[in-house]
Amino acid sequence: KVVGRLEQQINDLQIQIQLTQHQKGHIEAIIYSIHDAVIVIDEFDRLLMANEAAGRLFNFNSSDSPQKRVSELIDEGKSEFIDFLRHSRQSKAQPTRKEIEFSKDEELKTYDCIVSCIYNEGRQVCGVVAVLHDITREKQIQQTKNDFVNHVCHELKTPLASISAYSEMLIDGEADDEQTQKEFYAVIQSQAQRLNRLIEDSLNISRIESGLIKVNKEPVSLTILLEEQLRMIKSYAEEKNICLKDIGQSRIVFDQVYADKDMISQVIVNLLSNAVKYTPSGGSVKIETEVDETVNIARLSVIDTGVGIPESEIDNVFDKFYRVSTNNRQAKGTGLGLNLVKQIIEKVHDGRVFVSSKQGLGSTFGFELPLAAQRHREKQIINYQ
Ligand code: ADP
Repeated sequence: KVVGRLEQQINDLQIQIQLTQHQKGHIEAIIYSIHDAVIVIDEFDRLLMANEAAGRLFNFNSSDSPQKRVSELIDEGKSEFIDFLRHSRQSKAQPTRKEIEFSKDEELKTYDCIVSCIYNEGRQVCGVVAVLHDITREKQIQQTKNDFVNHVCHELKTPLASISAYSEMLIDGEADDEQTQKEFYAVIQSQAQRLNRLIEDSLNISRIESGLIKVNKEPVSLTILLEEQLRMIKSYAEEKNICLKDIGQSRIVFDQVYADKDMISQVIVNLLSNAVKYTPSGGSVKIETEVDETVNIARLSVIDTGVGIPESEIDNVFDKFYRVSTNNRQAKGTGLGLNLVKQIIEKVHDGRVFVSSKQGLGSTFGFELPLAAQRHREKQIINYQ
């Protein structure tokens, strides 16, 4: 009878063990599938459990390292993390959080580490669990935003300083004749316009970057948009004695792109005004539109005979606030126009911008946009008839 009861108890225990093992396996599977690195240590800093992400981060094999002390497993370069684990365990702190930087694959990565104590039934700390979440990208975005805001504020200072200096001189009566007064007013006006451009461009860029801009795409003809903008720029070109040549053939129906009209008009005006701006009097600006149906794109190129860009700087001209120093005396600017062009074409419209230039000879700036789908074009043809 006693033997029978013992057998029954053994049976029950085996079932219990199987169940516990099954549950353990289940919990491990969950922890292993977490994308963040999870690492659990006991009260003697020995490894109890670590998922694959932790193994990858700390360079150890998570399955054959149990019971090893974390200081043996994790290399010295990451000692800040080990100290943080120890400190959290010893201070029995509530979940604590710290941003720690690790270099991984020769790249500096930032992790948000949250460490919590594990308590036994007697409310004693018997280990700690740490979760490390990679926030490198968020940090980079934050940094880019801070740099952008700093840069914008810095750029706003110059025209503002000029406006206040000239208005002060006017108030103090330092401009005694009408001609000088007019000059001062003109400076104030042009600096106010510069402020306006800076603010507008910065707002547009940050709206596009944050994805907050409202995009209104429809089938539009590049030629029509170009013609509108050419009319706007004509007087500026005449003023500078620059010959504008539009050598694209009007293919209104066939150069349909699916795009936001206002945005593409902004792109065209930025390219045209740059071409006129950076071309000395007597030069020419040629505009070419092409359609390549084999790859389904429409292309617009603005070719000028202007000052050009040094080879070493070509790759930078689409960067925010980048201005080619040797061209600065040619014209005023914000260094934001081409960045806006790139963002509108590549980010909003899945197109591509291009540039080629020879210093002293001229530059070609342009973009390619995917042609509107056949369906959209047919709709537009009907509208024209
Ligand atoms: P900006 O307001 O300074 O004109 P952009 O972003 O439009 O700013 O252009 C960035 C820089 O690229 C300009 O400062 C200028 O030096 C150079 N650049 C742009 N377009 C041309 C061009 N057509 N010819 C020569 N340089 C150009």
